[in-house]
Amino acid sequence: MYKVVAQELVGIGDDQRFIGEARKCRFCGTSDPSDLGKKTNAHAFPEGLGNKTLFSLGECCSCNSKFSRYEDALCKAVGPYLTLGGVKGKNGVRQTGRSGSVSVLKHENNQGKRHIQIEARNIEDIHSVINKNNELLRLRIPIDGDKFVPRYAYKALLKIALSLLPVKELCSYRQNLECLQEIDDAPGDYPLQVGFSYASIGNAPPTLGCVILQRNNDTDPVPYIIAIFQAGSVCFQIALCSEEKDRHVQNAVSLGIVWTTQLAKPEGGFFPIEYSSPIQFDWSGLSPQLQPFEAFELTFNALTTQGAYLPLARRTDQ
Ligand SMILES: [Zn+2]
Repeated sequence: MYKVVAQELVGIGDDQRFIGEARKCRFCGTSDPSDLGKKTNAHAFPEGLGNKTLFSLGECCSCNSKFSRYEDALCKAVGPYLTLGGVKGKNGVRQTGRSGSVSVLKHENNQGKRHIQIEARNIEDIHSVINKNNELLRLRIPIDGDKFVPRYAYKALLKIALSLLPVKELCSYRQNLECLQEIDDAPGDYPLQVGFSYASIGNAPPTLGCVILQRNNDTDPVPYIIAIFQAGSVCFQIALCSEEKDRHVQNAVSLGIVWTTQLAKPEGGFFPIEYSSPIQFDWSGLSPQLQPFEAFELTFNALTTQGAYLPLARRTDQ
């Protein structure tokens, strides 16, 4: 039903790489070399999600400056994953929550060992259960954390997808390109659906990647372009709505692709990162809201010494 038309996968610590062409900004159309600036001006994937490697040549300084607000919103939306996973942004690993929040999550690195520090405003907010054989500890950590503007976070994903989209397809996405120029504009009058999934949370997998999928058969009632973007422990999927190519397709499609990224191992073979079934978000809103998870449940098995975090989605009536 779909074929891959573009993909980029980068590892933390890889050599710098560049995508696109520095002749023209694909977002606003400027071709003035002074507007386009240096090769390393524009990160193709947000730096706050750990990208220090992949840069976009076809994004001018002015667009890059506008888009930073979208990227900031996306990082806030998944802030707890970045803290728990130890993902390094521009200023080190992000803290989740501030004094006065329900809780504060901090990541520390002491002599090469990672530590997660959790402060809760009320001790009653942290629920712990130990089963009767003392084998299993279950700890519920409340997350208040940052507020983010959902529409801005969606537009960060849209910008990533448009950065990778083959140039010949850009003309079918004018409204999507134009909405990025005005901070509050939306690509259309429909819900901005995001499928969100996560992989095991602990050390975040040291990789970011994006795949652009294109519909094989133009009569199929499915979106022409789908973008899947993964950054460490988190993975997003959106359908781009084309005013030309998707006239016969319902807007605001919920995507439920269960995604696995295969990382090449230095010794040969692959290591799979398996993401959960997607949770659906509508990120159309312009009102700031708390990031989407109200708590993380840590389960630790004393017999196997294995632990895992399970995110618990915030109730939408809050
Ligand atoms: Zn531009």
